[in-house]
Amino acid sequence: MADWGKIGSRGNVEDRRSSAPAVVGGISVTGILLYLLVSYLTDGQVSVPLDTFQPAPQEQTQNLQEFEGSDEYEVFAATVLGSNNDLWEATFNKGIIVDEKGNEYGGYIPPKLVLFRTATDSSCGVATSQVGPHYCTLDSTIYLDETFFDELTQRYGATGGDVAEAYVMSHEVAHHVQNLMGITDAVSSEIQSNPRVANDLAMKLELQADCFAGLWANSIKDLNILSPNEIAEAMDAAAAVGDDRIQEKVTGRINPETWTHGSSEARVASFTKGYETGDIESCDTFSY
Ligand SMILES: [Zn+2]
Repeated sequence: MADWGKIGSRGNVEDRRSSAPAVVGGISVTGILLYLLVSYLTDGQVSVPLDTFQPAPQEQTQNLQEFEGSDEYEVFAATVLGSNNDLWEATFNKGIIVDEKGNEYGGYIPPKLVLFRTATDSSCGVATSQVGPHYCTLDSTIYLDETFFDELTQRYGATGGDVAEAYVMSHEVAHHVQNLMGITDAVSSEIQSNPRVANDLAMKLELQADCFAGLWANSIKDLNILSPNEIAEAMDAAAAVGDDRIQEKVTGRINPETWTHGSSEARVASFTKGYETGDIESCDTFSY
């Protein structure tokens, strides 16, 4: 367990775990996944680490447990979000974020993180556990059901642990940063004018988010929160959500042409690049 107590910042977390789940009746899980994938490819409105993920056929269970007040998990999520906000606020304040027209991005606006169970409403449609953690650009919010992490360890064989979870959260914050920087919009319009590059650009967006997550791990390095083993835990989680691993588990075959997130190796390499350099320039996945 990493020593999160050394981080004083807290992000904006809304805990909806005690609320009744949004009604998902009438929409199959596949329908929701398709909706997400389609809106991702067309409007760039959503991006999820596992949007190629095929859920196991199972009944939509209304797994509602009583939940009261803020618990350790909410504090943990707020802390990871807070440390990400510190990094991005400092980065934006340095004024080194410049778009292709030479505009500098000065103001960082922190995202919101919603914790939920089973399903909840989002501006991008109904967020469900099966879809996995994702970021919705329409409400600048990250949606997270912590039971996803059981899936990560049980189904995808990741070691798991708090640092693996922090990596996933930081990857989602990275999508928010890409949105603020105008990268998401630029990628969407390029995809709209040339749909054939959709997978390639989606993959670059995802690998950049992994690199940004690496920048986050670098930003808390000096606090000695993460041990080398724990950095390995984050890398292991990045490998577990590689397209090749997921595809092999789900279909038994590997078809790189359909990838949207990158191979396990590429995802680990991107995270490592951000972690080792601590330099946002090294995360320009669109130039290579
Ligand atoms: Zn992603």
